Amino acid sequence: MRVDIVSIFPDYLAPLELSLAGRAQGRGLLDIAVHDLRAWTSDRHRTVDDTPYGGGAGMVMKPEPWGEALDEVATGRPTIVFTTPSGEPFTQGLARDLATREHLVLACGRYEGIDQRVVEHAATLGEVLEVSLGDYVLNGGEVAALAITEAVVRLVPGFMGNAASLLEESHEDGLLEYPVYTKPATWREREVPAVLLSGDHAAIARWRREQAVRRTAERRPDLLPPSAVPGGGELRHAVPADVGELYTLQLCCWVQEQHANPGVRIPALHESLEDMRRSLEEWTWLVLRRGGRLVAAARGRIEDDTWDVGRLMVAPDLQGQGLGRFMLAEIESVAPPAVTAYTLFTGAQSLDNIRMYKRAGYRLRGEGPPGAVRLAKPRR
Ligand code: SAM
Repeated sequence: MRVDIVSIFPDYLAPLELSLAGRAQGRGLLDIAVHDLRAWTSDRHRTVDDTPYGGGAGMVMKPEPWGEALDEVATGRPTIVFTTPSGEPFTQGLARDLATREHLVLACGRYEGIDQRVVEHAATLGEVLEVSLGDYVLNGGEVAALAITEAVVRLVPGFMGNAASLLEESHEDGLLEYPVYTKPATWREREVPAVLLSGDHAAIARWRREQAVRRTAERRPDLLPPSAVPGGGELRHAVPADVGELYTLQLCCWVQEQHANPGVRIPALHESLEDMRRSLEEWTWLVLRRGGRLVAAARGRIEDDTWDVGRLMVAPDLQGQGLGRFMLAEIESVAPPAVTAYTLFTGAQSLDNIRMYKRAGYRLRGEGPPGAVRLAKPRR
């Protein structure tokens, strides 16, 4: 991959010679060139800016040096990236996309930005993207160009020694990464989570997935998959603040189950608030809120290669509107990739539930705990 970066502060890009990017250049995987925009000025003062048309504060980068720089550097129809706070957000997805390009040209603005006609001209030379590093304003595009280059080139095949490590990182599966630990197992009286020392790979995978989902729900709920909720509402992963309402909804829904299955001991009716709190740590829970009210929920967790679904609940006054089917599909959809089948239990006399599960593709697979039946379906 070839990367050309144009800036009025080329020294700012010196770190690109360091570390992995430097070594990749040595191995011929990467060819980075940093250019001083002022090389394409023609006046004695090497002027790159002028006052804005229409008035206002600050200066704008002149089109002439930029035009000449791009004519010389952006040959062979490259992808030309203008760094700007008004661009599309830079994401891991965009980094992955850019890593497939042969030739990138990064234009670093300064002052109030670059005359817009330069962007229009660049579109005659190649593909143009206007990219923002985030919702804040930097003094110049160099930090953005450094960040973009680093995020992109580490995805170029052969760049990273251990390509598998890329797959487990934050944003690669749409989630933030789980917390990581190394030796020693005890440090300043703080223990590494016991599951990581257990040698039980399925349990470790389950724990990591649950931690990743929880972190994402707490820190970046915007990353969780958007869903079309029947009748409207907001679906998201449960957080500790949901425990009280979840507990109330669970009791209310399983009283109904008790009426349908008299004499059966239903675990959900015998759990404490503390059990519910712990359940949020041990299971992936989805909750649905409508108008601020918690109206439905479901939970799932991986057992070997099966996604164990449970506690599918919908507030009694909203049942029969498709919310149960919706919650079932949603809790299935957050199962980790390793899952090959779904399973669940319901009361042997809960005929409406059994009908709903069958319509969703589940089949009876024998008895469950006393008074319950087990249903399962393969993952497609
Ligand atoms: N007047 C511009 C605005 O309000 O959008 C801000 C200009 S900023 C002071 C100068 C240069 O820094 C921009 O042209 C751009 O190259 C770079 N820059 C600033 N913030 C950035 C961000 N969040 N992402 C990418 N580049 C940024």
